[in-house]
Amino acid sequence: MIAERTRPAVCTACGQQCGILVRLAGDRVVALDGDPEHPSSRGFICPKGAAAHELHYDPARVHEPLKRLGPRGGGRWQTISWEQALDEIAARIAELAARHGRETLAYGYGTLHGADWSIGERFMNLFGSPNGVGQDKICYAPAGLGEALTYGFGPTFYTYPVPGVTRCLTLWGMRPSASMPLLWMQIEQARHAGAKLVVIDPLATREAKRADLWLRPRPGTDGALALAMIEVLISRGHYDPAFVAARTEGFEALRDRVADFPPARVAGITGVPAADIVAAAEMIAANRPGIIHAGNGVCQSGSPATQTGRAIACLVALSGNLDVPGGHAIAGPPRDVIANGAAIAVGALDPVQRAKRLGGDRYPFIGAGHADVDAALARRWYGQQGVLAWMATAHEPALWRAIEHRDPYPVTALILQHHNPVGASPDLGAVRRALLSPNLELFVSHDLFLNATSSLADYVLPAAHWLEKPFFSTAFGVLGFAGDYAEAAQAPIAPEEAHRSDYDLWRDLGARLGQERDWPARAEEFWNDCLAPAGLTFDGLAARRGPAVGEAARDPHRPPDVPTVGYGTPSGCIEFRSRLMESWGLDPLPGWSPPALFAGAGADFPLVLTTGGRRLEGFHQHAPQQSPYRRRYPEPCVSLHPETARAAGIADGAWIAIETPIGAVRQRALVTDAVGPDVIHADRWWYPEGGCAPDDPYGVLAVNINVCTDGADASCDPVFGAWLLRGVPCRVRALPAGAAGPRPA
Ligand code: SF4
Repeated sequence: MIAERTRPAVCTACGQQCGILVRLAGDRVVALDGDPEHPSSRGFICPKGAAAHELHYDPARVHEPLKRLGPRGGGRWQTISWEQALDEIAARIAELAARHGRETLAYGYGTLHGADWSIGERFMNLFGSPNGVGQDKICYAPAGLGEALTYGFGPTFYTYPVPGVTRCLTLWGMRPSASMPLLWMQIEQARHAGAKLVVIDPLATREAKRADLWLRPRPGTDGALALAMIEVLISRGHYDPAFVAARTEGFEALRDRVADFPPARVAGITGVPAADIVAAAEMIAANRPGIIHAGNGVCQSGSPATQTGRAIACLVALSGNLDVPGGHAIAGPPRDVIANGAAIAVGALDPVQRAKRLGGDRYPFIGAGHADVDAALARRWYGQQGVLAWMATAHEPALWRAIEHRDPYPVTALILQHHNPVGASPDLGAVRRALLSPNLELFVSHDLFLNATSSLADYVLPAAHWLEKPFFSTAFGVLGFAGDYAEAAQAPIAPEEAHRSDYDLWRDLGARLGQERDWPARAEEFWNDCLAPAGLTFDGLAARRGPAVGEAARDPHRPPDVPTVGYGTPSGCIEFRSRLMESWGLDPLPGWSPPALFAGAGADFPLVLTTGGRRLEGFHQHAPQQSPYRRRYPEPCVSLHPETARAAGIADGAWIAIETPIGAVRQRALVTDAVGPDVIHADRWWYPEGGCAPDDPYGVLAVNINVCTDGADASCDPVFGAWLLRGVPCRVRALPAGAAGPRPA
C-alpha cells in the first residue's frame, strides 16, 4: 500500500480560493480536504472543491493535441504532437495576420480555471490584436463599472462584513451560499452579531428565507428599485448633507431624477409593494454601516445593467456606507505588486490597433472612452494604467457577427480557452453559425474536454487542470482589486499526459511569433517579476500558506506614495452626475428603462425568464461536467409557479416548451413557489457525454436556455455592451404527453 502524504494548495474550482490539503498516494490525488490553517477558509471545503480531482481524472479528458479530419464538427480527429500543433497554428496566424491585419486574431476565455486564467490577454497585446474577449460584461463588471463611474473604483461590493461592526447586509441579485460560501459564512457571523439582512431576489433562495426583509422584484427592474430607495433616503432626510456638500457633485440632479421614481410608481414596475421599498431603504439607513453586495442578478440584465450598477453605487454613497469601517472598502488595485494592465502588457498594444477593438465603435467604455476612465483612475491609483482593463475587453456578440459577416472587418482566427460559448453565450444558435462559418479559417480550442464548442475546432489542445498548475492571485489571477493582496501556492501535482497550462501555451505560441523575450520560462518566474516591486518572491509567498495583505506585501524601501486626489473620477468627487457618461453622450444620471425586448413582446410573452441561478455543486460553464452537480441535477429544469403551471396545463416533471422572441427550447418542469407567478427560471445545460443528435451532439440547441437569451445590440447595455441573460419576455407551453428530452449516448 502506498503511503499517503498531503500538500497544501489553493482551490481554484471557483473564485473563493479556499486553502486546501491535497492528499496524494504516490503522484495520484486521492482526496481534497479543507486546510484548517488557511486564514480565510479555515478548513472549509465545498462539494465541488472536494470533488475537483474527479474532474481531473475524468476519463473523457482530452490528453493529446487533436487535429480535425474531415468537415468541422464531423467528430474525426488525428492525434498530433504539441510541436506540430503549435508550428501549424503559429504559421496560420502569421499568414492570416499578414492578409487581414493583426486584429483578425481573436481570443476568448471563459470560466476561471486556474491562476493563469486570462493571461492570453498578454499575448494579444504583445501580438497587436485588440480582440481579447472575456466574460466581464456579465460577471460583476456592470456593477463594478457603475461604482468606478461614481466613485472611482470598483468592485467594492466584495467587501467582507466585519461581525459586530457591520450592521446591515443587502444581497442584491446574489446567492453567496452557492456562489461565494466564504462570504456567506462571514455574513452569517455578522448576522449572529446582530446585523440585519435585506435580500433582493426574484427567487426564494436560502438567503431570502433568512432575511429580515425580502424584496422580490421582477428580473430586470432592479435599477428602478434602487432609484426608488434613493428617493426614500432623500425625501425622508436619511442622508448627511455635510457629506453630500463636501464629497459629492450632482446631488440636486439626482434628487430631481429620483422624484420620477417614487415607491408607489416603482411598485408597479417591480412588483415589490411600495411599503417594502420604503422599509428596505429605512432598514439600510437605520443600520449603518452596511454593505450592499450587488451580484450577477444585476449584471446580467442587458440594457439596464451599468445604469443599475450606477444607481446602487449612488445608494451606497448616499446612505453613508462608502469607505467607512464595516462598510464598503475602496481597496484599490495593488500598489506594489504588478497586476491588471501592467501584467497583461496593455501598453504594448499600438493605439491604432486598440481603436479597432470589436464593439468599441458602439460602446464607449470598450472604445475611446476607456482612456478617459483610465486617466481618472490613474490620478487616484498611483499613476497605474489599465486598472480596469479587465472590464474593457472586446464585445463577444460583436465577435460572432464579425466572424460570420466580416463586419466591420474579417476575424478569421480564433483561440478559445476553457470557454464553451455554444452553451454559455446568448443566442447560441448565432454563436454556432459563426464557429461553423467558412470565414473562420483557424479555430483552436484549449480545453479539458470535447464539448459543444471545442468539438467544432480545427485543433483541440489538452489543457491542464488547476491541480496541475501553480497558483497566484492578486484577487483573481492577475486581476487586482483587493489592495495589497497576493497569494501563491506550488502546483499540487505535475502536469500529466500532454496537458499544458494556459501560461505554457501562450509562452510557446509567443516564442513562435516574436515574443521570445516576453515570457519567462516558467509561470512562477513571471509571477516573481510581478512580486519583485513588493520585495516578495513566488516561493516565499507560497511558503506562507495564506495571503500577504497590506503592509506585509509592501517594500519598506519604496518611496512615498504618488500623491493622490480624492476619488478616481474626473472631478475627484463622488459623482452622482457622471461627467464621463455625459461626455460619452449617455445619460449622466442613474436611470432605468425596460429592456428593449419587452417593447415588442406584448401579450404574446406574458412571463419573465431569468437564468443562471447558482448552485454550490457546480461552477459556471463546467457545471454539468462536475460530478456533484450532475448527481444532484441530472436534467435541465425550468422552475415555474403552481399557478403558472395550472394555467398552462403543465404537470410537475413534464417536459415543456420555453419560448422567447429569440428562440425556443424544452426542459423538465419543476413546479415550485420558489419563483413568483410571473417569473420562470431555466437552466443553462448540455449533456457532456454527447451523442444526443447528429447536428446537436451535446443537446444544447434542444435544451440550453441560452438559445433564448439575447446578444443583439438593442438588448445590450449602452456603456459597454453587457448582454441579456436575465429579464427576457417569455411563455411556456405544455408538450404532448410522453414528450422527452434528448437521449445522450
Ligand atoms: S468554495 Fe468550493 S470550489 Fe470554491 S474555492 Fe472553496 S472549496 Fe473550492
